[in-house]
Amino acid sequence: MPERPKPAPAPPVDASDPQAASRRGFLLSGLGLLLAGCAQGQRAARALPGPAWDARPVPAGPAQEQAVAAAPAPAAAPQQFPDVLARSRWATGRPIPGRMNRMLPVQYITVHHDGMDPFTGDDAEAAAARLDAIRRAHQRRGWGDIGYHFAVDRAGNVWEGRPLTYQGAHVKDYNENNLGIVCLGNFDRQHPTEAQLAALRRHVCLLMGTYSVRITRVRTHQEWAPTACPGRSLQRYMVSARSTGTFG
Ligand SMILES: [Zn+2]
Repeated sequence: MPERPKPAPAPPVDASDPQAASRRGFLLSGLGLLLAGCAQGQRAARALPGPAWDARPVPAGPAQEQAVAAAPAPAAAPQQFPDVLARSRWATGRPIPGRMNRMLPVQYITVHHDGMDPFTGDDAEAAAARLDAIRRAHQRRGWGDIGYHFAVDRAGNVWEGRPLTYQGAHVKDYNENNLGIVCLGNFDRQHPTEAQLAALRRHVCLLMGTYSVRITRVRTHQEWAPTACPGRSLQRYMVSARSTGTFG
């Protein structure tokens, strides 16, 4: 989740639940899926889409997203990721370009959970509604769009979030060069599905190859800043997956 939001009605927040017990058995079973690691041959670096407007001084963080200039909002899914479901499939409102900065060359990938109430929806409609609720909450904070560039649902679909032409709003003070991926759910209070973890693994591998991001630069939100995000079970998964070479 993005941290230190301005007050807003029903925003998605890190909802740390100290009573939620971690279920290690789940993680062990999830790790069994991960032995394949990143496929080779995905290392051809590609440039991000060109800047949508001239760069201006970068705001300090997501809560300070500022207008820089108006620009047309991309409508199509990123062409380099044909399996990603387009933003137009879920969003009922458009990005507000004047509140966002252009994306800079990708150097980091950061994994989040949405931190709201536990999410059990396993169909596209439920995931779309969840994404749109996050978008609305983020835009009520004054941000230009949902803060994350990608989302992974419980069925294993990967969704386009904020267009890649725009800097995200997901790690305060560290949004430059940083792609944000949110897994739908609250992983202090539930566990990601195996399909969700497999999709996360595939997409992180794809992004690492596309942008030549090293494994040491694949992080979770709490590795940047004090926050419960991405929740205990997903944090444990990420630590294990990186150490076992799952992401290459
Ligand atoms: Zn987060």
